[in-house]
Amino acid sequence: MAMMPDRQVLIVAGSDSSGGAGIARDVETVAAFGLRACLAVTAVTVQTHDAVERVEQMPADLIAAQMRAAFASNAIAAVKIGMLGTSDAINAVASVLASRLPLPVVLDPVLASTSGRALLAMDAVEVLKRRLMPLCTLVTPNLPELALLSGKPAAVDEAGIIDQAGPLLEGGAPALLVKGGHAEGDRSVDLFLRIGAKPSRFEAPRLDARLRGTGCMLASATAAGLALGGDLEAAIGKAKDHVFEKLRRAMRQGFPSPSEGEGE
Ligand code: PLP
Repeated sequence: MAMMPDRQVLIVAGSDSSGGAGIARDVETVAAFGLRACLAVTAVTVQTHDAVERVEQMPADLIAAQMRAAFASNAIAAVKIGMLGTSDAINAVASVLASRLPLPVVLDPVLASTSGRALLAMDAVEVLKRRLMPLCTLVTPNLPELALLSGKPAAVDEAGIIDQAGPLLEGGAPALLVKGGHAEGDRSVDLFLRIGAKPSRFEAPRLDARLRGTGCMLASATAAGLALGGDLEAAIGKAKDHVFEKLRRAMRQGFPSPSEGEGE
């Protein structure tokens, strides 16, 4: 009989041919935490760093089959979910996950690329909220994503963020990390919100690095921290440090391309 390998992180996400975001980022991040990844590919995208040229959605049953095979072959200790694309994909992922809980699950609710191309069908937003978020340990929207999820204009201050997050928490998302990368100010402040708990903040100096895929990295790094047995706030703290270090390296290298940020 085959030996059960070490614990792994299951990455359920889309590929980005430029390597700036998506699965390539997720796998390198999980590896940086000393863990191996297994995959369920949700979509294949053709991208440069400036534009999304084409998106090919994988069939929902193919996504579910990849997940089931990953669970059958590996000791999966956490799941990271990124781009899903359609409501069919969300339903398929939710069905497989529901049979595997309890398991740490981090959802980066990818709605669009930085270049503005939609990466989730509009009719899928409600399904994401209703079906998938309640199965997750943590959901990590940025400010534009939080606005879209809540159906309101982007929040400009903490009170606005808390107001928009309320219905998502009441709808069943156990915890939200609202990423402040799109806000102003010399600190990048992420707000950690749970029902009935006081908001807490994760802060780092704001760096003006042109690095893509930071949202993918933060969610994957948090999933890796949870797979290693850390509690949620500790895993978020380490993930934030990891992304900050990547941004710092990208800056030091003079950001030759938005996918850099590796090596010394
Ligand atoms: N492409 C894929 C496959 C992604 O998963 C994501 C974000 O998670 C993006 C593109 C968007 O990345 P960016 O905002 O860096 O363009």
